[in-house]
Amino acid sequence: MSSDPLPPFRDAALLLDLDGTLLDLAPTPDSVVVPPGLTDALSRIRDQLDGALAVITGRAIETIDSLLGDAPHAIAGEHGGAIRPAPGAAIERPDLKPPPRSWLKRGAALEAAHPGSMFERKPRGFGLHFRLAPDAGPAIHEALAGLVADSKDFWLMPGHMMWEIRPRGVDKGDAVARLMRSAPFLGRLPVFIGDDVTDEDGMRVARSLGGAGLRVQDVFGDAAGVRVWLYDTAAAGDWGALR
Ligand SMILES: [Mg+2]
Repeated sequence: MSSDPLPPFRDAALLLDLDGTLLDLAPTPDSVVVPPGLTDALSRIRDQLDGALAVITGRAIETIDSLLGDAPHAIAGEHGGAIRPAPGAAIERPDLKPPPRSWLKRGAALEAAHPGSMFERKPRGFGLHFRLAPDAGPAIHEALAGLVADSKDFWLMPGHMMWEIRPRGVDKGDAVARLMRSAPFLGRLPVFIGDDVTDEDGMRVARSLGGAGLRVQDVFGDAAGVRVWLYDTAAAGDWGALR
């Protein structure tokens, strides 16, 4: 186990990834399950932290709304490509180019060519999931890597049994830095928790701001372990015990 020391609970802001951190990974993005009690625990912790609880995810903000309701105060979606700093506030988006139309066609064609794979359009890019077609991973990688090979505006990011074409210039670290600049996060010490390569940017920025970056696998084992810790934290009004 390795874990950054946590700041005092009353001084912290809690910034949480969704898939693989709060929720168990599922065969498809749409089939995740929100366990009973999770949104209540998140709402309690948000109140205990005077609002300083955010979800920072690759998904769209609307998806987080549908899964978690108003439990998080702030949501950063699309890996920082969209930020809503408070419930009901306008969504802030850095000005970025959409992917070329020809790439979207190529993505859809890859889905058709590899049964079981799944094309997922994102507002600033797209992903190809191959959890249900694991043998197609290398071919999908090769095709998508070819698209971005000479691009200044996009890069290819690995995920859990998926590849995603994403714009350059935004990541979860930017999202942490932007959220921490205003209330209710301003003046607090960020604790970022995530399970994926994209979360490492968030962990790095959280540490640089004097907080902590915790990797799920190292500190909690899995998302179920994170949830047990959150339930303990909500009940105690103080950090639950780490393994
Ligand atoms: Mg994740």
